[in-house]
Amino acid sequence: MTHHLDTQLVQAGHPEITASGTPVNIPVVRGSSLLVPTAADRERLWTRRHAGENIPAYGIHGLDTHRALESALCALEGGHRAWLTPSGLSAISLTLLALLSPGDHALLSDSIYNQVRQSDLRLFQRLGIELEYFAPQPEVLETTIRPNTRLLFLESPGSLLNEVLDLPALTHIARQRNIPVAVDNTWGSGYLLKPLTLGADISVLASTKYLGGHSDLLQGAIVCANPALDKRLNDTHESLGLSVGPDDVWLVLRGLRTLAVRLAQHQRHALRVADTLQQHTAVRRVFYPALPDDAGHALWQRDFQGANGLLSFELQNADMAQAHAFIDALALFRIGASWGGVESLALAVDPARLALHSHWRNLAGQGPVIRLHVGLENPDDLNADLLQAFAAIRS
Ligand SMILES: *Cc1c(COP(=O)(O)O)cnc(C)c1O
Repeated sequence: MTHHLDTQLVQAGHPEITASGTPVNIPVVRGSSLLVPTAADRERLWTRRHAGENIPAYGIHGLDTHRALESALCALEGGHRAWLTPSGLSAISLTLLALLSPGDHALLSDSIYNQVRQSDLRLFQRLGIELEYFAPQPEVLETTIRPNTRLLFLESPGSLLNEVLDLPALTHIARQRNIPVAVDNTWGSGYLLKPLTLGADISVLASTKYLGGHSDLLQGAIVCANPALDKRLNDTHESLGLSVGPDDVWLVLRGLRTLAVRLAQHQRHALRVADTLQQHTAVRRVFYPALPDDAGHALWQRDFQGANGLLSFELQNADMAQAHAFIDALALFRIGASWGGVESLALAVDPARLALHSHWRNLAGQGPVIRLHVGLENPDDLNADLLQAFAAIRS
């Protein structure tokens, strides 16, 4: 029997209960060497591991704590196998390295996490792998796919302007041509969106954000629903020698338990903040898909279980200096990237970076844009903070 997602968040990855008594939570299991009674046992372990079984033959493969998180993430996302990585970015790079070879071409939505573009310049171009950023509409995808396109990599919504993509339509086009699809699901965190049920083969998560949920760790995950991709992903993960410490794995398991309640509260607070922003004359536009007048609202309603605390807005008739003055004037919203913890954050985004997004060009956006992460502080205090900062830059 499959339970609701919030039930799974509470139950998934717990140890099996035995007659001798079992603690609720799996312990932090540390170890490098794995000791076995006989030489033949060791042979058997490695043989099974090499045959593709997800069992450890050495500490680098992760031990019980790792297996518990992997199985919880598989349950959430609807995948059959997961790999943990030291950061969200390493999960993205690993997916690209695993599925692309020199001479291959990949299409990425143009609202993709910005660091991917940096890895493209620093690494993938040198390897002869061509990453192309496309305006993520089905009709554009149809005409942009090439004979050597080997991967479609999407992110929905984008983390700066909250662009919501039509994932079923995009994955359908790729599947017709046997092109694997990976989706960066950090925004949805395995709870608000389930890309693997909308046609994607791989869901990539930065557990750093809402899964960890407390701004105290870095971690990534790859969850796969297509067994044909397992070997490539596993071989690449093993070849890079990636390993995640069990303490951080345990912290993500702890974060999972409260993910649903935190996200619901982040959404409630973000809606209150969005309302204040929409009424303010200094604001040209608010980007938040739970708003009925947001460009992505209909797709969000169709495909998502809810929204989170990520919200951005375009300042009216302001330059970057005023944007910086605005976030400097905020007291409760602290200045910082990353998001998904309990605290509120603000960031000023340069319009030059936004110009890479077709959504921004289509809207004739002028900028600058302020990206907020609306946290779990009282929303009245957050709104008062925003209003005093607007007043401060006007005077
Ligand atoms: C933060 C983020 C990442 C990268 O995660 P790190 O753990 O910081 O490397 C990837 N994708 C998205 C959408 C993100 O917001």
